[in-house]
Amino acid sequence: MIRFSLICEHDHEFEGWFRSNDDFDTQKKRGFVDCPNCGSHRIEKALMAPAVSTGRKQEKIALAMGEAQKWALAQLKAMAEKVRENADYVGDKFAEEARKIHFGESDPRGIYGEATLEEAKSLAEDGVEFMPIPSFPEDRN
Ligand SMILES: [Zn+2]
Repeated sequence: MIRFSLICEHDHEFEGWFRSNDDFDTQKKRGFVDCPNCGSHRIEKALMAPAVSTGRKQEKIALAMGEAQKWALAQLKAMAEKVRENADYVGDKFAEEARKIHFGESDPRGIYGEATLEEAKSLAEDGVEFMPIPSFPEDRN
């Protein structure tokens, strides 16, 4: 929302909230904007009021989103770490090994490793249960 300082043909000043500059123009053209003092539809924008309060609000929301993303990332990271602690690393043999476990040719256990998109697709088609875990640059050492 943008706050506009408006002024009518009789120099009455008042304020109006609009979604955008275009919103103001549209509403004005349709005659939806009128002066609260005299009802005149001949309205012009006075100097635009600096919308400090809205600006601050948006800043707060952006900050909250940043925190939520950090939190989600931490959760993902913790989950990935748990998998790495409790599962066997099979490297790029993941698809092969996962299929063996699925069909009972290998001991049932948790594994993790890398697979190509094609391999992952074909595993999913075979009904093998797996999930992607995020990898973080600092983990690759
Ligand atoms: Zn007026």
